[in-house]
Amino acid sequence: MQDNKNMRIVIVGGGSAGWMTAAALSHILPNANHHLTLVESSAIGTVSVGEATIPGIREFNQMLGIDEAEFLGFTKGTFKLGIAFHDWYQKGQRYMHPFGPYGVNMQGVPFHHYWLKDKIKGHETPIQDFCLEYTAALNNKFCHPQRQSRSALANLKYAYHFDALLYAEFLKKFATGHGVNHIEADVKLVHQHNNGSISSVSLSNGQQINGDLFIDCSGFKGLLIAKTLGVEFDDWREYLPCDSAIAQPSESLLHLAPYTISRAHEHGWQWQIPLQHRMGNGFVYSSDFLPKDIAVAKLAKRLPSKALEQARQLKWTNGKRKMAWKANCVAIGLAAGFIEPLESTGLQLIQSAIMRLLALFPDKSIVDIGEGENADIRTFNRYTNEEFLAIRDFVILHYKANQRDDSEFWQYCQHMAIPDSLKAKMELYEQSGHVFRDNNELFNEISWFSVMNGQGLRPKRYHPLVENMPEEQRVKNLKSIAGAMQEAMLQMPDHGDYLKQFCKSPS
Ligand SMILES: Cc1cc2nc3c(=O)[nH]c(=O)nc-3n(C[C@H](O)[C@H](O)[C@H](O)COP(=O)(O)OP(=O)(O)OC[C@H]3O[C@@H](n4cnc5c(N)ncnc54)[C@H](O)[C@@H]3O)c2cc1C
Repeated sequence: MQDNKNMRIVIVGGGSAGWMTAAALSHILPNANHHLTLVESSAIGTVSVGEATIPGIREFNQMLGIDEAEFLGFTKGTFKLGIAFHDWYQKGQRYMHPFGPYGVNMQGVPFHHYWLKDKIKGHETPIQDFCLEYTAALNNKFCHPQRQSRSALANLKYAYHFDALLYAEFLKKFATGHGVNHIEADVKLVHQHNNGSISSVSLSNGQQINGDLFIDCSGFKGLLIAKTLGVEFDDWREYLPCDSAIAQPSESLLHLAPYTISRAHEHGWQWQIPLQHRMGNGFVYSSDFLPKDIAVAKLAKRLPSKALEQARQLKWTNGKRKMAWKANCVAIGLAAGFIEPLESTGLQLIQSAIMRLLALFPDKSIVDIGEGENADIRTFNRYTNEEFLAIRDFVILHYKANQRDDSEFWQYCQHMAIPDSLKAKMELYEQSGHVFRDNNELFNEISWFSVMNGQGLRPKRYHPLVENMPEEQRVKNLKSIAGAMQEAMLQMPDHGDYLKQFCKSPS
């Protein structure tokens, strides 16, 4: 008999991962059968970054029934149409990874092949002319998708920037409003059954919390998954050498850009995330190539506006746990792994782990599994691994395909070994302009094309079926697509004005 009654779920950690998990579980699981407790330590605190997102976050908020204007007002958020990469391929060169597509596929052939024909012939039209999100971002424009429109405005793809602390706060209100028992205390001891499953945690306030399922959202250290259950870590520092960041917010700028800026420097890169009340800034670098005090000084010199707080350092190792689910413990968030923030994937990894957990949700018999495995656990771990690996490759691409010669750091990246899976994708594109999306991978062909093209990869040829279209027709089609994008962009209001009218945050 299945035993689903009175299942006790204990979440350890109250960062974005803990509160996203608590909000989703409290919303989806019937209260009568599930008792949710979240324990967080105010002394330890959270990483409090994670302010740029990708479009999937909207589905998460929609699943919870969150009102978008209220959410953006509370978190002092802005809209995001993509990421602008400055100086990555070479100094002075820029490109964007937009969230929306370029043009339309014709004769079953992806649009970029029709564009590549011009590029290979040496008279290219700027690629941004064919993508509404790209051209709108460059012109500081934003509006919601206009579902009735017959233009690209109908399906505009967007995400958010928001204050990470306020997002956790927002979700805390939501989760506690849905019955989550919130305890502020430190977990001092973790107790296990004889079979290795976790039975309870002892807290600094003297309480002991028993559970059937434990969710480890305790951050990098992985209090339950690593420190208690001993799950090892796959370390990817040889491919992703940046292991540190200096974060320092500054005053907001007059114009709110609807995109994140990632600007490459001699020893790493700097993020710029526009929020309503401040600019989020950070400098990501490798501690093998740059000491902390110089990193702090470099960021201070390059802040776009006056600093609002002291700089603080964050440290990590890129990689993931070998298993994110072991026994009756599921690790979500930084406890499960981390890939540096270049493509804003941290919160997305949390969201997909939550959805995967809900899809494979156990009953109380999970406690009996002990150190063993079952098909649900294996499936969860397999898909988690695949997701991490695909994102890892995508992020490595930005570093590997650079032509900068101004520092040892960029030279290292150019010459470092890369995973075979990435090598195969780069070879395919360089040989024939083809881009293939593997199974469930997060980033689609458009994302891969954006970055491969932006990072200077040049295919030798384009799809042969492009030649089936008379040249005159091809040129006419490209012109008409660019014209339609321009027309749609001109209908969009200024991003800052739109925000003011849609969701000005309460002062
Ligand atoms: C430099 C940097 C930039 C980033 N930028 C982005 C971005 O732009 N976009 C994005 O999507 N993601 C980004 N991320 C990732 C994102 O910040 C994280 O995925 C997200 O914040 C989740 O963190 P977490 O909740 O797992 O861990 P944390 O925020 O570290 O929270 C851990 C929680 O566990 C609690 N805890 C720990 N030990 C105990 C204990 N013994 N007892 C009780 N409680 C305990 C802590 O108090 C805390 O509440 C970035 C990360 C870094 C490092």
